[in-house]
Amino acid sequence: MLLNAQTNVVIDHKIDQLFDSQSKYTYEEYIQKAVQYVKSFLDRDSFYSGEFISDFDSKRHFITPDPNVNLTIDEALQEIKALYLDHTIAFHHPNYVAHLNCPVLLPAIVGDLVASSINTAIETWDQSTSATLIEQEMIKWICTQMRLPRISDGVFTCGGTQSNFMALLLARDDYAFKHYGLNLKENGWSDVVSKFRFFCSEKAHFSIKKNAALMGMGYNAVIPVETDDKMKMKSDALIQAIEKEKQSGNIPIGIIATAGTTDFGSFDPLETIAQIAKEYQIWFHVDGAYGGSYILTDTHQHLLNGIERADSVTIDFHKTMFQPVCSSAFLVRDTEHFKYVSYYADYLNPLEHRDAECPNLIEKSIQTTRRFDALKLWFTLKMTGAKTIGSFLEKVHYLALDLYHSIKDDPYFEIVHKPELSTLVFRYIDLETDSNPIHDKINLYIKNTLFKSGQASIASTKIDGKIYLKFTLLNPKSTIDDLLNIIQMIKNTGREYNPHN
Ligand SMILES: *Cc1c(COP(=O)(O)O)cnc(C)c1O
Repeated sequence: MLLNAQTNVVIDHKIDQLFDSQSKYTYEEYIQKAVQYVKSFLDRDSFYSGEFISDFDSKRHFITPDPNVNLTIDEALQEIKALYLDHTIAFHHPNYVAHLNCPVLLPAIVGDLVASSINTAIETWDQSTSATLIEQEMIKWICTQMRLPRISDGVFTCGGTQSNFMALLLARDDYAFKHYGLNLKENGWSDVVSKFRFFCSEKAHFSIKKNAALMGMGYNAVIPVETDDKMKMKSDALIQAIEKEKQSGNIPIGIIATAGTTDFGSFDPLETIAQIAKEYQIWFHVDGAYGGSYILTDTHQHLLNGIERADSVTIDFHKTMFQPVCSSAFLVRDTEHFKYVSYYADYLNPLEHRDAECPNLIEKSIQTTRRFDALKLWFTLKMTGAKTIGSFLEKVHYLALDLYHSIKDDPYFEIVHKPELSTLVFRYIDLETDSNPIHDKINLYIKNTLFKSGQASIASTKIDGKIYLKFTLLNPKSTIDDLLNIIQMIKNTGREYNPHN
């Protein structure tokens, strides 16, 4: 033990756990050991051990830190193996087809390790230097892919939810400023804002409504627009909804189109919606959290035509660019619009020191301290390349199509849509009944049974109040046989269902 004479603070040898030049060999040892344990996670057979929440009771002592005991690296890794690595959900497993979780690319993991170790905080130039340039270059790259104009810009965010929040905020504050001379950022709420309305399809992501609520506008400020049989926003219904709100004295201020809905992967007609937004002179946001990355494909690029006319765009790299969470971006057509979130703090980025040569990204961000998430994408584009990402995305789309063709004539399944991206929504049909409540029960039973037994993870969703199953395919290494294997499990489990159990 060292005794610091000046302060009488006792510092033990664990001071060596701080990352610095003296601990580099310990750093190497820890990382190498951690890698060995993560490899054991990859050696697991099932996507999930099936461990139930009550099973954790016997491992409480692993979960809770003991103030009197400090573990060695080996002990800590052993505990986390027993608690987590041996049991948790493996997104790379072919039987994991539930949510928008992709397998991740090794270059991106390296980027994450480097970013976490160096621990750059990207909000100001003086904390980040070249990291700021790398984030800006990644933003410029994706803006160029989207064919947004030169004055476009963007910022990395923690996810699509936050990106959508920024879109609604900029749209609202811009409308209030341009049409009413209001400065909401300075002065806060104004009564007229209660009349502001956003429009999105009824299949849009819930974060649109949630964000409207967080902004004090309430769920009711978001008007759901009817979709067609392909789950795309109907443009005539959009115009009718806008006109109806105007007639009741409300003020349309923005349209949110979805490029790849979470459940169906459907693309709203971006070009038509862009034109409608232009005619009403209101904000046009494209939520491409899921489908935005398909700009890198030959198969889907045309479905994104019109995105170049967007006022703002959401894209989630942690959904469809094979990046570890978090990695997401908010893009805006005109960098000027970031003024609605910028703040000049004396201690960080005083206005009088503003310097275009050495930008402070905090001026564009809701967060202050922010991770260098762009580094993962940098490693990915340098090592894997955008073309390969595009081919992965095409692969998972074709996989969804193959699955659709394989089961569409099967009487045991009712299929809701032909996949436009890489999801398939369907339900198991019990041929003996046409009761919807019974089908709801059977399909939930299938989902829960396969999950608990560690056989497969499937999602569920509701359409018109009825329960459906959902496959979300994001693993380019999966094969149609892997999927048909899950389909067989679904059939077997559905047949097993006994209403008296
Ligand atoms: C997943 C999703 C979101 C939310 O993104 P997070 O990164 O989970 O916050 C928003 N919009 C759509 C269409 C999505 O699929």
